[in-house]
Amino acid sequence: MLAIVLGVALAAAAPANGPLRGYTEASSRVEREWEAKFRAIPDPARLREYMKRLTARPHHLGSPYGKDNAEWLLAKFKEWGFEARIEVFEPLFPTPKERALELLAPVKYTAKLDEPAVSGDPTSAQKEEQIPTYNAYSADGDVTAPLVYVNYGLPEDYDRLARFGVSVKGAIVITRYGGGAWRGLRPKVAAEHGAAGCIIYSDPRDDGYFQGDVFPKGAYRPSEGVQRGSVMEMTLYPGDPLTPGAPATAQAKRLALKDAPTLTKIPVLPISYGDAQPLLAALEGPVAPPEWRGALPITYHIGPGPARVHLKVASHWDTKPLYNVIARIPGAERPDEWVLRGNHHDAWVNGADDPTSALAAMLEEARAMGVLITQGWRPKRTIVFCAWDGEEQGLLGSTEWVEAHAEELTAHAVAYINSDANGRGFLQASGSHTLEKFLNGVAKDVDDPETSLSVWKRLQLFRISSPDLRQEARDRADLRIHAPGSGSDYTAFIDHLGIPSLHLSFEGEDGNGIYHSIYDDFYWFTHHSDTDFRYGRALAQTAGTAILRLANADLLPHNFTGLADTIRRYNDELHKLLKKAQDDIAERNREIDEGVFAATADPKKPTVPPAREAAPPALDFSPLDQAADSLAQAADRYEKALGAAALERAPLAALNRTLMDSERRLTDPAGLPGRPWFKHLIYAPGVYSGYGAKTIPGVREAVEQKRWAEAQAEIGRAAKALQAEAGLIDHAAATLAR
Ligand SMILES: [Zn+2]
Repeated sequence: MLAIVLGVALAAAAPANGPLRGYTEASSRVEREWEAKFRAIPDPARLREYMKRLTARPHHLGSPYGKDNAEWLLAKFKEWGFEARIEVFEPLFPTPKERALELLAPVKYTAKLDEPAVSGDPTSAQKEEQIPTYNAYSADGDVTAPLVYVNYGLPEDYDRLARFGVSVKGAIVITRYGGGAWRGLRPKVAAEHGAAGCIIYSDPRDDGYFQGDVFPKGAYRPSEGVQRGSVMEMTLYPGDPLTPGAPATAQAKRLALKDAPTLTKIPVLPISYGDAQPLLAALEGPVAPPEWRGALPITYHIGPGPARVHLKVASHWDTKPLYNVIARIPGAERPDEWVLRGNHHDAWVNGADDPTSALAAMLEEARAMGVLITQGWRPKRTIVFCAWDGEEQGLLGSTEWVEAHAEELTAHAVAYINSDANGRGFLQASGSHTLEKFLNGVAKDVDDPETSLSVWKRLQLFRISSPDLRQEARDRADLRIHAPGSGSDYTAFIDHLGIPSLHLSFEGEDGNGIYHSIYDDFYWFTHHSDTDFRYGRALAQTAGTAILRLANADLLPHNFTGLADTIRRYNDELHKLLKKAQDDIAERNREIDEGVFAATADPKKPTVPPAREAAPPALDFSPLDQAADSLAQAADRYEKALGAAALERAPLAALNRTLMDSERRLTDPAGLPGRPWFKHLIYAPGVYSGYGAKTIPGVREAVEQKRWAEAQAEIGRAAKALQAEAGLIDHAAATLAR
């Protein structure tokens, strides 16, 4: 405790080194004073109270307590002095009607498909309001077929199956969660390979007893715990499946259910490892490769059969009212420039970790700004807080709102800052690299709760402890932020409209196995996560400082040298990706010619040799190489001009307008190949990874999927956008230098 108190005192006494980026000397002094006042306000005891209230009952989209929470949030924002309202949409949200899973042969087993209450955890017993375990947007279906185990169910797993000579045509596949991929990929890839049904289970190796003690003793998944979740094809477009690119208002034109492309083609059901074990134990056929084996006390076989399974899934295909709570403080000087902050309020069940741990932090930011207003503070720009509904189903609330307000947002939005869940540990940030330097500055001004360091310093030392990251963490001025993938509400802002976005959390010290189960609740969180809510306070301090600093900057703090450095890395990766594809295919063809596969095959364990493949052609990367150079040069010119400029005399309104357009320049209205909703040419969730980002996705995915002509065309398109970006930055530099 002493060390922590000292740490706060030292950090507070540390002299500010120079004005904040984008601030004059005078305005920087004022800003730092308000920020220090702001950071002293968030209170762990209040975070705890918000969580207790918001997680008191299950509150999925369309539930009575979901609406109750939205109204409570609205009242809070109003109480704190915000202009606030609820915006309603009506997206498709299928809910469970029938779920059945039986093993018919060689032995009989009926899956329980039920999460039992845990004694001592009161909300786990709220049976009536808990939505049953299922995957939303699964196709209805009733199938009986042999079972095949397909590991994570990703494309490379099916390549491996083909080497075993195993086909999944007409089969029901059982896949496990994990492997870093979006759950909706599993039924998509299974259907592409001809499977008739898909089961997804949580293996104890991933988040059960293999990782640590299970709930309630520990944080990990008990044997009957199930991960609910959406399986819509969000990488095509997120949001309401029936109104792509348009808001799901009452009178909106809707696709027919049969024409909605983001619904799965086959029935899908998630199950616990308690229910999965009898099914997996009944499989024979080849023994699964070592990397495919989980932590159940069985030998993992692939099948097919003799396990025969009956799977039945049916949903009520209804639309449900969705309640986004939108609250704003109008800007005093630049009301037409908006800084946005968001977190969802809906949960799959009680949702203490996901999303309330981070929503509570956002609420403390709003309350703290309300307190500052009573002390005479007003932001220069407009600040907008958004508590989204329907995130769990497929980013419904944020996507529909962004689609409804696309024109205004394109004209007015400066940046969007998102969070979704929060724990103890190290600052995690992903998002637009134009804001990388800015966020590094913010992180240096927030105290870490468990050390006497700033959250920036603690993260730097954490990275130094990893051999792969060590040198860069020591040498580079800014700690890198990750590229934005998908899986939370920043997606529509960055990927659809090109609004610079950041996604923030603290994590790394506590694992968990309660994700999307009834056990993600107040009891679990207050026993196994950020139990004293000090990291909730740190998140409020970090995101809130970022909002304040963006809202009050004389000149927006965008930086392009970090972006240029990142683009250069991505371009290098693309060069290497092509080279590796060329080398791998050449090597495999050579081994086929040499007879390696025939010579090493064990006749008692038959395998199928790989087929010859055509060598990938050379691609001309020179347009991208040149664009990366132009961008780096323009970024340097801008930094020099900024360093020499007197902001007091700069044409700030015009400059800010130019900077607001900078991320939009990286988009193309035509969108990515095959998925026009995704318009950003530098960041997108991967079609075959989902959560994971694909950078320069048009080129990268074409190379990965061996569409060479498309890869060449996409090189040209990405290069053109980067040249346009360089032109914009040059223009800003010239304006500053004048
Ligand atoms: Zn969430």
